[in-house]
Amino acid sequence: MAKAKTKKIHVTLKNGTSFDISYWDIDSGKEGPCLLITAAFHGNEVQGSEVMRRFTPIAEKSIVKGRMILIPFANPMALWNRRPHIISTLAHPKGKEVWDNERKIMRFDLRDNINCTWPGNPDGNEAEQITNVLYNTVVKEATHLIDMHCWQHFVVTAALSSNDEKFIDFARASALPAIYISKLKPETSGIPKPPCTLGMLFEATGRLAFDMEFSGQYVIYEKEVVRGVRMLKNCSKYLGMFRGKPEGLDETVIFKDKNAKEVTVTAPENGLFVENGLSNGDYVKKGSLLGIIFSDRTLKTVNIKAPIDGYLYSYGHNRRLCDVDLADTHPYADKGDTLAIIVKSSRKK
Ligand SMILES: [Zn+2]
Repeated sequence: MAKAKTKKIHVTLKNGTSFDISYWDIDSGKEGPCLLITAAFHGNEVQGSEVMRRFTPIAEKSIVKGRMILIPFANPMALWNRRPHIISTLAHPKGKEVWDNERKIMRFDLRDNINCTWPGNPDGNEAEQITNVLYNTVVKEATHLIDMHCWQHFVVTAALSSNDEKFIDFARASALPAIYISKLKPETSGIPKPPCTLGMLFEATGRLAFDMEFSGQYVIYEKEVVRGVRMLKNCSKYLGMFRGKPEGLDETVIFKDKNAKEVTVTAPENGLFVENGLSNGDYVKKGSLLGIIFSDRTLKTVNIKAPIDGYLYSYGHNRRLCDVDLADTHPYADKGDTLAIIVKSSRKK
């Protein structure tokens, strides 16, 4: 049996702030992949941290080759802030807004989002300094990556992959309920231009990786944690680091790429969207009741029905910043707001 060693990466920022990023290092003593597993780069996305706490004793018993580096709290400053980014505040949940001269709009400064800062910059902001320290230590050593995030609870748990069968295959081994082909192809130069996520950095440097999103931020759901532990066991088996075959590959996976037939259900008028007891990931038949709009003006009820057969990729009224502002999770919809996204396409895992 291998022993998980608790180690620390020391970070000293230019402003004098210093802290440690603690991690587990499990070395089988045998050649093999070096799998990096990360969670909580965003401080409100902590389900993967608990997944790792439960997975580590399993990995100690099961690892037969290679090495695992598990970082449950990859960005401690954002965790302590209990918000997505180090600089997030109640008034500016996603950080500073800057003028985008190309698109002629105000947008969030992507450099405040730690996952857009790879490979980091020793002279950059706090997020860029932290990614640079990680880049020069564990990220350089690792041959494979699973980066765990969480998105809003309206959306189904998904692995995010680029459109390359090798990467899709690794993501599929996770047996998560959905695969979202999300990524642009990184440049072939080795490191793509910012904004570069850690997953993109791995892919650009020829290393197998996927990011994933648990359903639910600011929370730890038992169902998600169980799913996450199975994912890590499955992927360890896929890489030959554990013995055995991945479980759950006979389950259906919602496959969302640009060719997937997909319909966004929007509110036909303003009112309270009352869900009909469904959950994201559920299969709905065309014509089945998704919920109702209770109009605050006419006090009438409007039935909202599924326009196609398919899987609820997203379910429930929510707005753009609902991951950082509870008002945006409110069930009161304006006409045209999204109530559900139904994806028709699926595959066998
Ligand atoms: Zn995230």
